[in-house]
Amino acid sequence: DAGSQHPHVVLFPFLARGHIPAFLRLAGLLHELRPGITVTLVSTARILASLSLPPTHPPIRLHALPFAPADHGLPPGADSLADLHVHQFIAFFQASESLRPAFEGFVSGIRSPVCIVADAFFGWTADVARAHRAFHATFLTGGAFGFAVFFSVWEHLPHTRAAGDEFPLPDFPSVVLHRTQIPRYILAATGADPWSAFFRRVISFCRKTDAVLVNTVQELESSGLDMLRRTFGVQPWAVGPILAAPTTPSASHDDAGIFRWLDAHPPRSVLYISFGSQNSINADQMTELARGLEASGRPFLWVLRPPLGLDAKDGFKPEWLPAGFEERTAEANRGLLVRGWAPQVRILAHPSTGAFMSHCGWNSILESLCHGVPVIGWPLGAEQFFNAMVAVEWGVCVEVARGNMETSVVAMAAVADAVGTVMGETEKGGEMRRNAGVIARAMVAAWEGPRGSSAVSLEGFLGCVETSVR
Ligand code: UDP
Repeated sequence: DAGSQHPHVVLFPFLARGHIPAFLRLAGLLHELRPGITVTLVSTARILASLSLPPTHPPIRLHALPFAPADHGLPPGADSLADLHVHQFIAFFQASESLRPAFEGFVSGIRSPVCIVADAFFGWTADVARAHRAFHATFLTGGAFGFAVFFSVWEHLPHTRAAGDEFPLPDFPSVVLHRTQIPRYILAATGADPWSAFFRRVISFCRKTDAVLVNTVQELESSGLDMLRRTFGVQPWAVGPILAAPTTPSASHDDAGIFRWLDAHPPRSVLYISFGSQNSINADQMTELARGLEASGRPFLWVLRPPLGLDAKDGFKPEWLPAGFEERTAEANRGLLVRGWAPQVRILAHPSTGAFMSHCGWNSILESLCHGVPVIGWPLGAEQFFNAMVAVEWGVCVEVARGNMETSVVAMAAVADAVGTVMGETEKGGEMRRNAGVIARAMVAAWEGPRGSSAVSLEGFLGCVETSVR
């Protein structure tokens, strides 16, 4: 590709299931704006092999980097966060930096101008870019407010009880957080532990990047984007929503059965429940949620993952749910439990889906709202607490619980209540559905024609890259 007028774009998503689809979709959008552009997705061989790109996917090169998780005390073959328990995450984040020499070797072998677009957790790629005169962009697959607050919380450690239960963020005093919104491992962080050190590095690298792309919409998150500008020192480009293709294959169950079941229910009547690709609630919470669902009297489709700290490979234990729960709700045609990977985007797009009980992962929020489906929030970790704040501010979310520790209690009555409010013919429910429709239209408008705000933004970004590498 020497002599090509476009930069060679090297996409480098973090090794986590939720991060890769957005990078793939970004590759497609780059191709639409610059047909013929060379885009390479870099990851581990196993992750690349697991991608099943549809034949219609725009041309993308794949480049595999060697990765040996066992060298870092991790299970061999574990090269995605989804393969690990939470307590192994920090070792995994640290291990991921061992990709650096191979990544650097790949970048230095490209003869045309290079633009690296890397995950925030691969911030060290900014140093690689500098050494090889490449342009460096950070692509945040999460939302603007969520990331700005998450980084800021990491920068101001420790969060001790002395601060009280509620405290304003030093960087952004108008943002007031409650202790229950600080992930447990951040509450435990002293500043001198491995997590603190890791995030200190991530944040310091943020300040070396040349540009920031964010999976959000300018009109919906202008204040969050402003906060991010202060974090990174450059004006972020809002290029969202960037959504996964609805065709992600699912291995472990019968999708057709799910859609037959949904087809048999009235419009907007079903509550969809999922806590994302790597989180789960604890066994007591599962039981209480199940009882609340029964009490709500509404149909539900629940993607079950084993409770916190347990492994799906050990099988599902009946004691995680109230006795007879699955049989009772199945017989009444009221409940469908899905074990494994659910076709989430297609479920949210189905007319029978009326609300989404979600851990508020950013992809989940975008996927729900772009289909006009309001959210019952149960944030569990990372920046999910702050994503939930954004959705509450948009008027499309009520929070039912926070966290998945033993200390986070959810009451059956609260579940039934929230489900009734959001899905029922209540004033609040109607307002949330209307607001979700407004957000959905804003998301469509962002990519409608060349004048949509995200189309303008991605074009602006490319222009900036082309000028700087010329
Ligand atoms: N997802 C899915 N089926 C599942 C669980 C998750 O398709 O059973 C997809 C979901 O559609 C979303 C992504 O996985 O695109 C999860 O991303 P999110 O940011 O919501 O949460 P994370 O998993 O990163 O915590």
